[in-house]
Amino acid sequence: MSLANPKVGFVSLGCPKALVDSERILTQLRTEGYEISGSYEGADLVVVNTCGFIDAAVQESLDAIGEALAENGKVIVTGCLGKKEDVIRDVHPSVLSVTGPHAYEEVMGAVHMHLPPKADHDPFINLVPAQGIKLTPKHYAYLKISEGCNHRCTFCIIPSLRGDLVSRPIGSVLTEAQNLVKAGVQEILVVSQDTSAYGVDLKYKLDFWGGQPIKTRMLELCEALGSLGVWVRLHYVYPYPHVDNVIPLMAEGKILPYLDIPFQHGSPSVLKRMKRPAHAENTLERIKTWREICPDLIIRSTFIVGFPGETEEEFQELLDWLKVAQLDRVGCFPYSPVEGAVANDVAEPVPEEVKLERHERFMKLAAEISAERLQRRVGRVEEVLIDEIDKEEGVAIARSKADAPEIDGNVFIEGEGAADLKPGQKVMVRITEADEYDLFAELVTG
Ligand code: SF4
Repeated sequence: MSLANPKVGFVSLGCPKALVDSERILTQLRTEGYEISGSYEGADLVVVNTCGFIDAAVQESLDAIGEALAENGKVIVTGCLGKKEDVIRDVHPSVLSVTGPHAYEEVMGAVHMHLPPKADHDPFINLVPAQGIKLTPKHYAYLKISEGCNHRCTFCIIPSLRGDLVSRPIGSVLTEAQNLVKAGVQEILVVSQDTSAYGVDLKYKLDFWGGQPIKTRMLELCEALGSLGVWVRLHYVYPYPHVDNVIPLMAEGKILPYLDIPFQHGSPSVLKRMKRPAHAENTLERIKTWREICPDLIIRSTFIVGFPGETEEEFQELLDWLKVAQLDRVGCFPYSPVEGAVANDVAEPVPEEVKLERHERFMKLAAEISAERLQRRVGRVEEVLIDEIDKEEGVAIARSKADAPEIDGNVFIEGEGAADLKPGQKVMVRITEADEYDLFAELVTG
């Protein structure tokens, strides 16, 4: 047995949910005494966590596997694309093993087989931090509350890749959140495929946390997370009536006044063809009520234009819907036919140039709304969380409560004291300027 610890290289692709899988595997590897190598050459083998959501992601994953094989030679593949083992083996027959998403144990089994752990490793001496290994900067962390999805949106293959909804028991979710906070995390980002459905599969089963009974349900989860004293941001929420219950928690400052709701469209007939969850709800009415209860509420969303069969009238309905909804943050994608998605056959495809033209019109309107809403915040004093410091420019790059990391805008703090701030610090700033997506601010002292 060599004295050196076995070294594993790790490539993590895909969405925040895949990132959580990577973090779990990395934590387990460290617990068992493996070292994580930052380079292919220094590693004894490489694990590639893949994404298979859209064709571009499939290609990116296949390229990453190819690169790892060329540079290292010993490669274990896991993640969403792993569900399609034949696609991987057609291109890269020499990979050591292939598993699907959230297959921690199988991945560890494959690692053990091809690179056994050091026999004398003692997990009690070589401690792994209780909060596990985080791939995100240490002041924010993703908290995955469930896997899979009970819906069957026609453009999506996630349920066939990840299966039906499986919620994590609330006690274990909250213990993980508590450990993150103890480790210095300032912001928890709740992720899942459908956060509003949390606990449905468990029939909102009673669990225990800190010796107290607590139901595995969205409202109880938000209340408990809100008691931890850090920012709590909700992603992937659908506009179901029971979501109304968490808005008062936002108004009271318990959780961030931020909802990430992937609406995808505003035309009832397109939503029906998409088989979207809550497509029959009157979302405009719901948004209006939410904003009455919590005027600072920020809504972010994503949309698809050029869905099969989308007519100019339906697209206009979407634009009209957005004008009334006045969403703060919006992403938009021209429909891209994912292999195996039912949507490809529900109606005639929209020509590529029409899709792109609609995408442009939609984004122009969304940018106008975003700019106008950001402009209203000029002059306000707000709390922000520092992400990084650009020492050369003397600028601190931060986010307000309205900005999720990586997908939303930033707050650039300029002027005196900015360069001395530290990542993870929360400070008060006065907003001095706004553009289409970002804000500029100065520190408020005293
Ligand atoms: S809600 Fe729809 S889009 Fe989201 S994962 Fe489930 S099936 Fe896919």
